[in-house]
Amino acid sequence: MTGPEHSCGVVGAVADGDVMFHIHRSLNVIQHRGQESAGISTFLENSMRTVKGDGLVSDALNEEKMRGFNGNIAIGHVRYSTAGSKGDINAQPMVVDYIKGKVAIAHNGELTNHKELRAKYQESGWGFMSDSDAEIIAKILAKNLAQTDDPVDAMRAMMSELDGAYTLVILINDRLFALRDTYGFKPLCIGKISKGYMVVSESNAIDSVGGTFVRDVEAGEIVEILRDGVKSYPLEKPMPKAHCMFEWIYFARPDAVIDGREVYDVRKKIGMILAEEAPADVDVIMPIPDSGRAHALGYSIMSGIPYEEGFMKNRFVGRTFILPSQEEREAAVSSKMNPIKSTIEGKRILVVDDSIVRGTTLKILIKSLKNAGAKEVHVRVGSPPIIAPCYYGVDMKDRKEFIATKYSVEEIREIIGADSLAYISLEGMVRALEIPADDLCLACANAKYPTFIPGEAHRFQSE
Ligand code: AMP
Repeated sequence: MTGPEHSCGVVGAVADGDVMFHIHRSLNVIQHRGQESAGISTFLENSMRTVKGDGLVSDALNEEKMRGFNGNIAIGHVRYSTAGSKGDINAQPMVVDYIKGKVAIAHNGELTNHKELRAKYQESGWGFMSDSDAEIIAKILAKNLAQTDDPVDAMRAMMSELDGAYTLVILINDRLFALRDTYGFKPLCIGKISKGYMVVSESNAIDSVGGTFVRDVEAGEIVEILRDGVKSYPLEKPMPKAHCMFEWIYFARPDAVIDGREVYDVRKKIGMILAEEAPADVDVIMPIPDSGRAHALGYSIMSGIPYEEGFMKNRFVGRTFILPSQEEREAAVSSKMNPIKSTIEGKRILVVDDSIVRGTTLKILIKSLKNAGAKEVHVRVGSPPIIAPCYYGVDMKDRKEFIATKYSVEEIREIIGADSLAYISLEGMVRALEIPADDLCLACANAKYPTFIPGEAHRFQSE
């Protein structure tokens, strides 16, 4: 079975004083990155203590569990898994014992060689308790730490064994480290907090604890986070980067700044470019809440067509995307979004969403707009068609499920029941990102992968 950490969220902090407030609040802020489980490990008085549980931070790490749980150094994790691979055993941080103490790991991403690593180490006699990549990583690191006194050497040796996407926050006894794989697939940034420092997946968490953003952790860089600063161990020579485009398109919260680009601004620019690339003769622009909001606003600004809210979203219905059957997904989408009739009736509407994967969301919502009296419903999409699976930790795995691998844009328009449909071009999206295409992972949109994946094309491969 595959290691099921998808786009999770990670955090770590150290200070002269208790850091539990910083860790707990940060996990709350990055809750959208994973709702299956949450956990925290801290090292206090020579021992590693961990609390974790299933569900949202407010349940998994509730007041009762957090009572008396404090420390000056800690890491935390929120986990997004596919349905069916839940359970405490996979919850993180993953803690392992080694000859000189304990290692705790919080991981975001997905290894592309997890099967090979698992088989290799099983052959040499290791047992695994979970099916998560974090356990493989923690055990490899523990093995290396037993062989050297220098944790940075041990981490470099570990990195040379891992392929794919891994952003890690690590406690080695009473020391806090963090690193990004050499491609920098998943985000991680450093913040200054009162009497200390933190690292976290999204910069909005730093704001929420009253800290100040310092900088991103660089691709391939290892940092040690100390009470009074950050020690950096950068790559010796630069390597190709591949920041995940989907972080800006959908995954991160709009108030995050990732690798120098604010998510809200990127999404708004995408909307503006869409308005240039695919104009429409309509009365109102409408977002699919919440993910399409900034895109729709950008479209409205550029086109001069008014922006209106057309749906009320029930925040308490969970993520519909990961429900196992199509019937369940469809039922959940319609119970999650209710149309606001006055902005819809008799209008020619343009709806903007961030992405189409299976096409479920838009198909249902277009039907409900038409039922509410919309005269026409046009659709614009803030990412190019999703045509290829993600092997690096975004929950889009199965080519067969992508509507755009089976149908042309015109056919998709017909299936979802829209009066017109257009996606942003890949070039337009990259322009909005303001990051060179060669520094991005665009594999879900162009089927060219930044790392070698058997049976798939490499991004720098000549045709
Ligand atoms: P679909 O209904 O399958 O076309 O899914 C598209 C919608 O689901 C998008 O508008 C996003 O809001 C959301 N979405 C896209 N990718 C993911 C993902 N990997 N995990 C959860 N939600 C997603």
